[in-house]
Amino acid sequence: MARMADTSTATAAHDTDVAIIGGGMVGASLALGLAGTGVRVLLIESTPFDSAAQTSFDERTTALGNASRRIFSGLGVWDTIAPAAAAIRDIHVSDAGRFGFSRLNAREQGVDALGYVVANRIIGAALWGALTRAPGITLRVPARAEDLDISPTGVGFTLGDGSGGRERVTARLVVAADGAHSQVRVAAGIEAAVEDYEQIAVVANVAAEHAHHGTAYERFTPAGPLAVLPLRDGTYAVIWACRPAQAQEVLALGEGAYLASLQAQFGWRAGRFVRASRRGSYPLKLTRAASTVATRTVLIGNAAQALHPVAGQGFNLGLRDAAMLAEVLANAQGDVGAPQLLRQFSDWRARDREGVTRFTDGLVKLFADTRPGVPLLRNLGLLMFDLAPPAKGALARVSAGFGGPAPRLARGLPVRHV
Ligand SMILES: Cc1cc2nc3c(=O)[nH]c(=O)nc-3n(C[C@H](O)[C@H](O)[C@H](O)COP(=O)(O)OP(=O)(O)OC[C@H]3O[C@@H](n4cnc5c(N)ncnc54)[C@H](O)[C@@H]3O)c2cc1C
Repeated sequence: MARMADTSTATAAHDTDVAIIGGGMVGASLALGLAGTGVRVLLIESTPFDSAAQTSFDERTTALGNASRRIFSGLGVWDTIAPAAAAIRDIHVSDAGRFGFSRLNAREQGVDALGYVVANRIIGAALWGALTRAPGITLRVPARAEDLDISPTGVGFTLGDGSGGRERVTARLVVAADGAHSQVRVAAGIEAAVEDYEQIAVVANVAAEHAHHGTAYERFTPAGPLAVLPLRDGTYAVIWACRPAQAQEVLALGEGAYLASLQAQFGWRAGRFVRASRRGSYPLKLTRAASTVATRTVLIGNAAQALHPVAGQGFNLGLRDAAMLAEVLANAQGDVGAPQLLRQFSDWRARDREGVTRFTDGLVKLFADTRPGVPLLRNLGLLMFDLAPPAKGALARVSAGFGGPAPRLARGLPVRHV
């Protein structure tokens, strides 16, 4: 962990069962899942949820699957989020300049919506609003953990608030929810493999002439995938993954030139694009921790695996990590940092984690493959997918996870067994 200059000595002490480091989308969800279960939780976040410097609850939007909606309902925040969420009624997938495309429809799949698109800031306000009222949760924000010391008997660290305040913390378990560059992961000695996709996501909100009627588009272009997602105010969230040099060009364009360039890649399905917000950019890498558990340590969300946003799976997967960990800890008999408990969590999450990671990585690589014959094959694949109801059913089920036991919250059940 990063060390701060030792300008003062630790003056206070805090003992807890679970210390969660990182109160972004996933860490805040885990804390809420443990509220009122009898497990004592300390949630440590370096940046307030409503600060412009917050990197989890920033200008992005997130596509939530139906399992995530159920988890948020169980956490008691869906009613706060829902008025600002756009339901996805149709998903349209296409390959730029080719004939194959596929369409998924909510009604055909027997669901109200295939998913929901929500601004990250709305999710942050809902989670942190609920956390301030949650029983059994102690919040430390802004604060950073330093000098993490993990041993088989417990975890210790110093909390610094950035203005000289220091607190000594002891815990049975530390949870790394501190994102793709997790310092807790490093302190726990867990290796991570990083693969650079050499793509940058350029994101913006864009208004179009036609009403979207809840249609989400995923278009594979030679430079990278382009997602156009419906928003509650009638506009679209655009996530355009480009090669780095092209991304720099796209970021430098004036509004009119950006809209024209987007239109050329996307086509006219949504009518003319007429207005765009400020653009933001995110370099895209696949980061995978070698293990999700170590001595008295658990990794969840991006700290465990950070994925390409192509299929909108990263947060949905991380939220299932949080829901399952809350369930395992809330129902634990005795020590919440016991090795067999952590192993059980890791085993239960393995298939979902592996499946979603492979699916997402495979999709990025399949559509980036320009070898002769491959574009034709994937167009046939899209066409066949469109004609084959079982295949479409499988994609609709993506939102429920890729296997292994589903967390109770994702099944509409309370975290605790009784
Ligand atoms: C362009 C883009 C679009 C995406 N769209 C989707 C989508 O549609 N659907 C989907 O499911 N996923 C999507 N994702 C993925 C999603 O954003 C991530 O999976 C999600 O943000 C992971 O949340 P997290 O809480 O694990 O990590 P982060 O969001 O990285 O949060 C980490 C938190 O930890 C805090 N922190 C870090 N270090 C410390 C420390 N030392 N002490 C205290 N606090 C610390 C940070 O301030 C932050 O609040 C997208 C990603 C990108 C880049």
